[in-house]
Amino acid sequence: MPVHITTVKRAVSLLFLEAAKGVDVQYQTYTWEQLMYNSLENLPEDCFLPLRTTSGFFPVPKVIVLNDYDQLPKRSVRFSRTHVFMRDQYTCQYCGDEFPKAKLNLDHVVPRSRGGKTTWDNLVTSCHDCNRKKANLTPQEASMPLRSRPRKPAGTFGLVNLRKIQESWTPFLLVDS
Ligand SMILES: [Zn+2]
Repeated sequence: MPVHITTVKRAVSLLFLEAAKGVDVQYQTYTWEQLMYNSLENLPEDCFLPLRTTSGFFPVPKVIVLNDYDQLPKRSVRFSRTHVFMRDQYTCQYCGDEFPKAKLNLDHVVPRSRGGKTTWDNLVTSCHDCNRKKANLTPQEASMPLRSRPRKPAGTFGLVNLRKIQESWTPFLLVDS
């Protein structure tokens, strides 16, 4: 189960402390020791990053598996303004343009004044212009169709920007798209 995206620095520490092993796409695992005496050329392609050290290159696995983990993160994503923006990839769900956070609003699909709730499936990311234009109308009344149907992201990885996912991670991710 995917737990988290971490930094190279942290991954190397976890390997060194023997708290984790590297893993390749064939599900073969590598301890710190095995990585120390290996070179990139002998390892499966695209599963390792070369880290320059004083004595050459250390192959850092792109995926590590923790040896022990007693507390899995909650599968559920907390409802927040930022998480709605992340779900929608900072893209206005009406005009389809991407904006910085400061230029975005949360828009109630069914307006609050008409009983619309503040929930994952009634809130979308909207730019200021579209927000103003839509005002107290539904998308249908305003002739502003939504780019996608809003819903609660499936787990933490529902928030990961798909464009930032490395190819080598995909065998380990169950991305609900
Ligand atoms: Zn817009």
